[in-house]
Amino acid sequence: MVNIFGATQRSGISIAQIISQWSGHPVEQEDPFPNTICTFCLADAENAYEMEEEVLHCEDEKITHHNVVPAREEGATYS
Ligand SMILES: [Zn+2]
Repeated sequence: MVNIFGATQRSGISIAQIISQWSGHPVEQEDPFPNTICTFCLADAENAYEMEEEVLHCEDEKITHHNVVPAREEGATYS
């Protein structure tokens, strides 16, 4: 079993962070859920996380390419 609060080798972030991103809820060491995950589930979680990152990256590109002035850059102009 692997502790979910330790950083993963592939992404460098903890499994707890991946799970909280998925679920939309913070994963704390003090919460009542297990702090460990088996290596098979760990690999699944990392694969799914990497796929999601890929999708988000593509979404970002779509926004940048289709809007003349992206909201983020507009905000930066005034700061
Ligand atoms: Zn498992």
